[in-house]
Amino acid sequence: MTEKESKYKDLQKELVHERISAWSRFDKTEMQVMESMNKEYMDFLSRCKNERVFINESVAWAEAEGFTSIEDCKSLKAGDKVYIANRGKNLLMAIIGEKGVDEGFNIVASHVDSPRLDLKPYPLNEDGDAAMAFLKTHYYGGIKKYQWVQIPLALVGVVALKDGSVVEVNIGDGDDDPVFMVPDLLPHLAAKAQGDKKTGEVITGEQLNILCGSIPVDDEDVKDRIKLAVLERLNDDYGMTESDFFSAELEVVPAGRARELGFDRGMIAGYGQDDRVCAYGNLWGMFGLEKTPLRTAVVFLADKEETGSRGATGMDSNFFYHALSKIADKVEPGISELRFRDLLANSNALSTDVSAGVNINFKSVHEMGNAPKLGYGVNMCKYTGARGKAGSNDADAEYIARLRRLFDDNNVPWQISELGKVDEGGGGTVAFLLSRLLIHTIDLGTPLVGMHSPKEISSKVDVYATAKACKVFMADF
Ligand code: MN
Ligand code: MN
Repeated sequence: MTEKESKYKDLQKELVHERISAWSRFDKTEMQVMESMNKEYMDFLSRCKNERVFINESVAWAEAEGFTSIEDCKSLKAGDKVYIANRGKNLLMAIIGEKGVDEGFNIVASHVDSPRLDLKPYPLNEDGDAAMAFLKTHYYGGIKKYQWVQIPLALVGVVALKDGSVVEVNIGDGDDDPVFMVPDLLPHLAAKAQGDKKTGEVITGEQLNILCGSIPVDDEDVKDRIKLAVLERLNDDYGMTESDFFSAELEVVPAGRARELGFDRGMIAGYGQDDRVCAYGNLWGMFGLEKTPLRTAVVFLADKEETGSRGATGMDSNFFYHALSKIADKVEPGISELRFRDLLANSNALSTDVSAGVNINFKSVHEMGNAPKLGYGVNMCKYTGARGKAGSNDADAEYIARLRRLFDDNNVPWQISELGKVDEGGGGTVAFLLSRLLIHTIDLGTPLVGMHSPKEISSKVDVYATAKACKVFMADF
C-alpha cells in the first residue's frame, strides 16, 4: 500500500469511528462485567424511588466501601475516602488524590430527583358521590400528565411529626403491597370530556388525584366515613394524624421494578432513570477505582434539578462550594479563599445527565446526523439550551479533545449530539452551575427513549458506557 492509499484508509476509518454500535465494542469478559453491573443497577433503581432513598442507599454503599463522614475526619490525606450529606437529599463524596489541591479535582455530578406527583398540604379528601377517598397532588418536574393515569403507583417519602420524629413511608413496591392509581375516563364516555382536547388538557393537574380508599368506618354518625377509615389506618401504621400531612414530603411514583426490555434483553424500562442512571454510574465509577487517583475524585448527587436546581439541596445552593472547601481545608488546613478558587478553576467536571435517544415514532424531532442512538454509547452534549443555545454551558473545544482522547484510550463507546432539531425545543442541566465556578464542564450521559415518562427506556450498553466514562474520568483524567 502506498502512503497515500494508507492515509485514505485511515480517513475512511475515522468517518465511521463514532457510529459503531457499542454492542460490538467489548470482549467476552467485559460483556460479563457489563451484564452484572446492569443487574445491580436495576436492583438499585427499583429500590430507590426518590431522592431521599437514593441518598440513604448511596451513603450505606459508601460506608461499606470504607468512606467516612467528614465529621469523623480530623484531616485528610491521599487515599482517604469521605462523604458529606446535606439534609438527606444531596451528597458529596470524595477520594483524596495523590496530587495536592493546586492540581484541581475531577468531579462527576448528577441529580437524584425525578419527575413525580407530590401530595398537597391538604391531600386527603372523600368524594361522597363516587364513594372513594383520594389524595390531591401537585406534580414535580416536567411530566405529560396523561401518562400517569391507570398505572400502579407507589407512595414514598417521610412524615415529620410534631414530636420531632420522622416516619418513613414506602408503600406500593413490596410483593404484597397495595398500589395507588389516578383514574382515567372510559372511551365510551370520553368524546365530549376529552375528545377534542390538547394532550396537556386531556388530564389536568387538578385531575391527578390518587385513589387511596373505599371502605367506610362502621359509624353512621360521622361525615366522610371513608376518609376517616384511611386516617385510622395511617394512625395505626405511622402514628400520624391529618395535620401531619402539613409537615410531610410524600411522593407518588410509578410502582414496580425496572425490567429488561426486548427479546434480547438489551434495554431497560424503569422509572427515574433521569437521572439515577448517571447517578448510579457516578457511584459505580468511584467505588470501582482500583487505586488512589492522581487528582481528588468527587461525586456530587444533587436534588431539585427537575425544578431548576434551586433550594438548599439543589446544585444552585452553596452546599457544593461549602462541602468542597471543607474538604480542601482538611487536606490543607487554612487554605485561602483565593487558592480554593484556583483549585476550582483547575478542576474538571462531567455534568452527567441523560439525553433524548432517537424514538422510532417521533424521528421528526431529531436531526438524524446529530441525534444520539440507544446502543451507541455514552452521549456528549457540547451545549444544551433552547432558541439559539440560550442558557447553555458550552464546553470548550480543547476540553472535548482531551475527553475524546481519554475515552478512546480506555475503550469507552461514546457519541456526540444535540437535544433535538434546531428550534424544536430544548432543556438544561446543572452544567452551567459548575462552569460558573470556572470548572471545565461538559454534559455527558445515557440516551433515553421516553424521558420523563413513568417507565423510561435505556440501553444496557449505554448504562455501562456511562459508568465506565465516569470511572476512567476519575481514575486517569
Ligand atoms: Mn436530568
Ligand atoms: Mn429531567
